Amino acid sequence: MLSKDLIDAYKSEDLATEAFKEYRLRKGVVCKKCGCKDHYWLSSKHQFQCKKCRFRTTLQSGTLLEGSKLPVSYFFIALHLLIKKGNDLKIEEFQQQTGHKYSEPLYDFLKKIKLYLKTNEQNSILIDFIEVVNENFILQKAE
Ligand SMILES: [Zn+2]
Repeated sequence: MLSKDLIDAYKSEDLATEAFKEYRLRKGVVCKKCGCKDHYWLSSKHQFQCKKCRFRTTLQSGTLLEGSKLPVSYFFIALHLLIKKGNDLKIEEFQQQTGHKYSEPLYDFLKKIKLYLKTNEQNSILIDFIEVVNENFILQKAE
């Protein structure tokens, strides 16, 4: 895949949501109400539903995106830039890539990612994302 396509893929909220869902499933979703680990995915609501007690867990709940109003795609754009630039990443560049109006929430967002995710974890999340993208491209071509 061309790197330009890859940048566009990171900016797709649909692909980002799908990839973030996969990331969460791999880590395991635990029901806050009953502790059950089996969930259905409600694609129209972007929520997990407990198979036992039907309690719903949002995609962001219990992750570093909890409480964030920023799109999930920003998470992957941030990882992509962090891997490429490391500590040299400037907030202006992140802002330019997301097209977000304000830099303050972006600054907090980056800070959180750097605080909670080590570089090797950032890397493996991106590798998984690329897999999701490739699967989606293959599906599109097959249709
Ligand atoms: Zn439950």
